[in-house]
Amino acid sequence: TDRVVVVGAGMAGAQTALNLRQGGWHGPLALVGAELHLPYDRPPLSKDVLLGKADATAFEIDWHHLGVDLLTGRRATGLADGVLHTDRGELPYDALVIATGAEARTLPGLPGARTLRTVDDAHALRAALTPGRRIVLVGAGWIGAETATVARELGCHVTVVEAAAAPLAGALPAELGALMADWYAAAGVDLRCGTAVAGAADGGVLLTDGTHLPADEVVVGIGGRPATDWLRGGPLALDPDGTVPVDDRLRTALPGVLAAGDCASYPSARAGARLAVQHWDHALHSGAAAAAALLGTLDGPYDPVPYFWSEQFGRMVQYAGRHAGADHLLWRGSPSGPGWTVLWLRDGALTALLAVDRPRDLAQGRRLIERGTPVDPARAADPAVQLKAA
Ligand code: FAD
Repeated sequence: TDRVVVVGAGMAGAQTALNLRQGGWHGPLALVGAELHLPYDRPPLSKDVLLGKADATAFEIDWHHLGVDLLTGRRATGLADGVLHTDRGELPYDALVIATGAEARTLPGLPGARTLRTVDDAHALRAALTPGRRIVLVGAGWIGAETATVARELGCHVTVVEAAAAPLAGALPAELGALMADWYAAAGVDLRCGTAVAGAADGGVLLTDGTHLPADEVVVGIGGRPATDWLRGGPLALDPDGTVPVDDRLRTALPGVLAAGDCASYPSARAGARLAVQHWDHALHSGAAAAAALLGTLDGPYDPVPYFWSEQFGRMVQYAGRHAGADHLLWRGSPSGPGWTVLWLRDGALTALLAVDRPRDLAQGRRLIERGTPVDPARAADPAVQLKAA
């Protein structure tokens, strides 16, 4: 019989294996993961787990009952035709799904600095966040904001160092980044933008602007890089950013080999570009789509409206779509109010939105983006009126 191997036991790999079984695949199925833990969910790591409100986030999936051969503590080291090489021997496959995700980027010159990617990272960092400790966080991105939120809640002194002029400068327009800078200030976080960490120095870090910041802990939150080094030198060529390129059915250039989740990049007709998405929703749906592609039940190209959320400074922040190429920005509600949404339009249709404590806007807006129908800007700008097509 055919043997399916899924490598990487995070959200994308778990969804691939689960959907293969649920879709009727009864043959041999192995799920290989480098970590010793049962497959688990990552978003709570920078929220409830870091706060100490939750310990474990394992998926509620009975792998044994599903007949999935769960091989934890086993790391893939290379790929050959029909064989996955691992640090504990070879695994032959007829079909392979690569879902090794991403790992935290680090900075040179900061020995002892922490990152937050795994449940072990989260437990170690949680133990370090005791009241009164001085924490320096490098990077005012999504993870930086969530970690700063929790560290303040736990009574730490928090300084965030951001090389760009505002938080999330790479992801959002400057006016929104400036608004978010106010959230840091209101939470009592010392946000230093436009300067970078030069290196470790005498009980803390030295910044490029000459400032010395004393620190008991340094946490680097500058994003992830695809965990695909193990594929280098093998038969599968990687994209320049290190992702595994797939087509709109999640197939790589090698027959029988697919990829999903943070480690993959796919062509989006919707975006008119190849996308490498590192968010939970994409891991979930691309894993399911990879399973459907193997089963022959995928009913169209994989091209969802990208979506993610972040919980920071007491707010639920949600984003859907892509605002690159938008020609119009609309405010729905005031940034000084309890909740507001920013809408991006292109040729009269909604292409993206950022919702702060407005989950209904997110749900309705996401559907409008999917359909690409025009909206009436005057009505869309009225937060008391539901978001709908013109
Ligand atoms: P991963 O979750 O990285 O899983 C890949 C697995 O493969 C890992 O367990 C890894 O150990 C294993 N692996 C790697 N290399 C090998 C190898 N060579 N051999 C075998 N196994 C290997 N997204 C949101 O949308 N909203 C959020 O609020 C949010 N919060 C987050 C908070 C944190 C702290 C983190 C780290 C991420 C967060 N994300 C969030 C992003 C989201 O969790 C990821 O997009 C998602 O986990 C990606 O799933 P994945 O399965 O592709 O990769």
